[in-house]
Amino acid sequence: MPSRPAAGPSPVRGSPATRETEPKDQQLTVALRIRPLNDTELEEGAAVIAHKVGDQMVVLMDPSEDPEDPLRTHRSREKTFIFDAVFDQHASQEDVYLATTQQLVEGVVSGYNATVFAYGPSGTGKTHTMLGMDTEPGIYLQTLSDLFQAIEETRDSTDCSVSMSYLEIYNEVIRDLLSPSSGFLDLREDSRGSIQIAGITEVATSNAQEIMQLLTKGNRQRTQEPTATNKTSSRSHAVLQVIVRRRGRGAHPAEEVRVGRLFMVDLAGSERASQTQNQGKRMKEGAHINRSLLALGNCINALSEKGGSRAQYVNFRDSKLTRLLKDALGGNSRTMMIAHISPASTHFEESRTTLLYAYRAKNIKTRVKRNL
Ligand code: ADP
Ligand code: MG
Repeated sequence: MPSRPAAGPSPVRGSPATRETEPKDQQLTVALRIRPLNDTELEEGAAVIAHKVGDQMVVLMDPSEDPEDPLRTHRSREKTFIFDAVFDQHASQEDVYLATTQQLVEGVVSGYNATVFAYGPSGTGKTHTMLGMDTEPGIYLQTLSDLFQAIEETRDSTDCSVSMSYLEIYNEVIRDLLSPSSGFLDLREDSRGSIQIAGITEVATSNAQEIMQLLTKGNRQRTQEPTATNKTSSRSHAVLQVIVRRRGRGAHPAEEVRVGRLFMVDLAGSERASQTQNQGKRMKEGAHINRSLLALGNCINALSEKGGSRAQYVNFRDSKLTRLLKDALGGNSRTMMIAHISPASTHFEESRTTLLYAYRAKNIKTRVKRNL
């Protein structure tokens, strides 16, 4: 199989050849979303301590009193973080999608892999951003609608096929949410070094609504259904995989070539990475999720320190999540991390740790290769 045909697939918009040299091809983009104060926080009299400044900056204020500086004249208790994009309570679902994930879509049709993941403590809006509601659809539906639109616009759209799979990582085991009775699934590396989920159900699909219906069906199989009203839904990672393939030309017309793979991930609540005082079943859950999210954090740290050229020394094998997201962090995928925080003074510590985590991820600089 040629690694890079001279005449590549038809460009969707713009030319892939020029895009490859643009800074956009930095592998990981990190955005931050700050949700509005919720009713509980308002009842508790919480103050807003996370403020968006401009399009890329957030200022977080330490709400604890400083006896040396009760009037905060020195502003020493403010920390500033810069991300690729910052959204606050005024941002719509569409604003978030357009400024983050939309830029990845055409790549999936023209030979690149893409990953979007929502990171943050429970209750900060990850499922809202990814799934949303019927009236305010999130990134899943907006991305899929644009993906099918982009395929329509390609010269050889009738040669393209799309399939979807949906899985959950819970206590370090992978469950197929479209075929829950099929037991636990394994991850395997194929001959090109790409991670495959062995035996997972792949459903051929031709439109975004169909995928959303399968997703809803799959969500009913989850360990905790991740609706926005379910407050205990945050112990497992949910991964939607969408693969675009193109029928081969010439000698093997029946053979399909993988054009691009898109992962969209609603991660478990990041507070699980530091929760230690739980007991029994909860402790087991905490410890396992701890392992996956800690491993993710360790990979992010290692990558941000070493830079992309030495990414192979990062230990992705430490957890199921990092094995699955290996391409997303150190390999062949354009990746969008959307970190989430509450703006409330009552959540200062977890907002601070989330911002530090996401800010570290911003230092990862790897360039992305094309599949075709
Ligand atoms: P998570 O998945 O991170 O645990 P959710 O997405 O379930 O959090 O959000 C918790 C609650 O906050 C839900 O009721 C959700 O609708 C609401 N919420 C989250 N983000 C926003 C937002 N940007 N605007 C309005 N409501 C939000
Ligand atoms: Mg959730």
